Amino acid sequence: MPDIEEKYGFPHALGHRSSLAGGLFEGCQRERAIKFHFSTSLVRVDAFSPKPVITVKPRDGDEYTVEADILLASDGIKSATRKQMLAELGTESQEEDTGQAAYRIMLKRSEMEHDPEMLALLDSDEVVRWVGERRHIIAYPVSNKQIYNLSSAQPDIHFASATNATYTTRGSKSEMLKMYEDFCPLVHRMLDLVPDGEVCEWKLRVHKPLPTWVHGSAALVGDACHPTLPHLSQGAAMAIEDGAVLAEVVSRIPSDKLHDPVTITKTLKVYELLRKPHCSALVDLAAHSGRILHLGEGKAKEERDRLFRENGKSGTVPDKWASPDVQRMIYSHDWIKEANSKFDELFATL
Ligand SMILES: Cc1cc2nc3c(=O)[nH]c(=O)nc-3n(C[C@H](O)[C@H](O)[C@H](O)COP(=O)(O)OP(=O)(O)OC[C@H]3O[C@@H](n4cnc5c(N)ncnc54)[C@H](O)[C@@H]3O)c2cc1C
Repeated sequence: MPDIEEKYGFPHALGHRSSLAGGLFEGCQRERAIKFHFSTSLVRVDAFSPKPVITVKPRDGDEYTVEADILLASDGIKSATRKQMLAELGTESQEEDTGQAAYRIMLKRSEMEHDPEMLALLDSDEVVRWVGERRHIIAYPVSNKQIYNLSSAQPDIHFASATNATYTTRGSKSEMLKMYEDFCPLVHRMLDLVPDGEVCEWKLRVHKPLPTWVHGSAALVGDACHPTLPHLSQGAAMAIEDGAVLAEVVSRIPSDKLHDPVTITKTLKVYELLRKPHCSALVDLAAHSGRILHLGEGKAKEERDRLFRENGKSGTVPDKWASPDVQRMIYSHDWIKEANSKFDELFATL
């Protein structure tokens, strides 16, 4: 997507999640106010208000409690905080089955360089999506083109009967090859490089829309409140935007109200009012994009393929991640500006 930098001021970059996590960690290390407590789990939330109190446990130590002014729970799709928050509010945490699972594969340059077609993919600056009925594979080079990263989506066969706690499993290579047997030979050759016994399959789950993201002086962040299918590549992006908006709204708390639970709850509610409609829309759009990508033979697929051939001339592409109209909606939205311009108005409604 060469026009992204021209349109939005920054190039489209491909990276592995570990590079992103490493970059975020380095950024946090430069902030004196941030202290990491590694290998320490949240055991439970003892109170959400007036001040949040949590019990945590270091891996090799004893449990202890911590009281804070604000609790931001970014504990992912399986969020224990969300379950407790919803239980206190009298509702149940309801994870939702998507019927889809994903293989996640990383191929090294040394494994691919014997094959000119594979090498061309690795040396390209492109994202490729191979699409078939109820299945697709998306792939792109990461780590300075030393690794080719593939992620798929296909009907969930293995997790359907598993408990809700099961999210990853060791898959079977022969089943993976069978799942994609009608894809092109290049795909077969790449999948065949995965060593037996190293096929990793992830269940793709989401969550029913939440009644709220905020309770007392605690707020949910990222996948804890808006887990999404990966088809729009926006899950981590939304989590980062949540963090940016939280930083803006919390910085608007007057210094004499920094420890005031009422002001803190209202401030967190402003965050929710700003972010929830947008994140809910993107979660729906990711699911919608998946449905379009996974169409079987018929009129709808013919129309989709016509739009693919048009290649964005009408301003829209069936793969919503690559669609100019969706990109405009996502990439041109300045959340910091919006948080600042709307803060007073939204705070006054609470
Ligand atoms: C196959 C696939 C492909 C994806 N591709 C993309 C993409 O291209 N672009 C994109 O933007 N997003 C993508 N995503 C989505 C992205 O991975 C998530 O949206 C993102 O990781 C959410 O970040 P988070 O910090 O909210 O949650 P997580 O990344 O899940 O982090 C939660 C953290 O909380 C910790 N935790 C949980 N419980 C506790 C506890 N009790 N105590 C202490 N710690 C706890 C966990 O160990 C974990 O480290 C993809 C997801 C999948 C499954």
